[in-house]
Amino acid sequence: MKCFLLIFISLINAACAQSGKPSGDLPSQLVISQGEVRWLEFPIPKENSKLVCRDQEVKFVKKGRIGLAFVMESYFSDFSPFTCKVLSQGVTVSEYYFNVKERPYHSEVLKVDPKKIKLAPKDERRVIAEQVVLNKIYSSSLPEFLFSESFISPLNSVVTSVYGNRRVYNKQKKGQHLGIDYRAAIGDKVPAANAGKIVFSGDLFYTGWTVIIDHGVDIFTVYGHLSKTLVNEGDIVKRGDLIGLSGNTGRTSGPHLHWGTKVQGQYIDGFVLVEESKKYFKN
Ligand SMILES: [Zn+2]
Repeated sequence: MKCFLLIFISLINAACAQSGKPSGDLPSQLVISQGEVRWLEFPIPKENSKLVCRDQEVKFVKKGRIGLAFVMESYFSDFSPFTCKVLSQGVTVSEYYFNVKERPYHSEVLKVDPKKIKLAPKDERRVIAEQVVLNKIYSSSLPEFLFSESFISPLNSVVTSVYGNRRVYNKQKKGQHLGIDYRAAIGDKVPAANAGKIVFSGDLFYTGWTVIIDHGVDIFTVYGHLSKTLVNEGDIVKRGDLIGLSGNTGRTSGPHLHWGTKVQGQYIDGFVLVEESKKYFKN
C-alpha cells in the first residue's frame, strides 16, 4: 500500500514538472539549455519590483502589472539548476525554477587565413581596441524594448553552420561558433531581424564589415562579414529594413552572413530567440 502511494505521489510530481505549472506552493518549473533564452511573464503586484535570477538582477519591461523578460543561460553553463524570483519591496512574490538540460553541440573543422589565427602584434592591438569599443556598446543598451513584433531569421537561405558548433581552425586553434551562418553570395540583401537602434556600423578584425543593432533591455543582433553596410550609428530601423549587403570580410572561409544574437552579455542561439519572442509578440 505504502509503495502504491509513493508511486502515485511521484506520478503527480512528474506531471506538475512537465506542465510547467506551479504545484501548490512549489515554484513554476521550466527547462532551459546552455546558449538559450526563455520568455518569462510574471505578475508585479507593487512598484519597485525586481527580477533576480541566480542572485543577479535581470532587466525587464513593465506592461501595467505584468513584467516581461528573457531569462538567459550561457553557452558556458555549469548545468546547475537556478531560481528566478520576483521581489516586491524585498518580499518574494513569485518564483520560477529552471532546470538546465544539456544540449549536444557538434564539432566542425575550418580553414581560414593563418594571419587571423596567429595574430601579428598590430592586429592584436587592433582586436583589444575593438573589444573596448564593443564592451562599451554592449553595456549601454536602452531600457525599453525597441520592438513590438517577434524576431525573424534575417535570411531564409541554407544554414551552413549552426549555433554552438565547437570549431577547430587550421587544425590548431579551438573555439566555439556562437552565431548562425547563412549561405549568401557577395551582395545579397541583409535585413534587420527586428526593430532597434544601430549602435555600430564599421569594420572589425574578426567579423569584417559589421552592423550591430540594440533592440533594448540588453538584446543585440550582430551581422558580420558584410561587403557593405547601409546604415549609420544612431539610425532607427524597423524589422526587415535593409541594413547591409553580405560579403566575405573578416575571418571567413568563404562568403556568408554571420548572425549573432547577444542577450544579457552572452551570445545565445538566435533561432531560440525567434521562437521565444513569438510567445508574446504574435506578428
Ligand atoms: Zn559565423
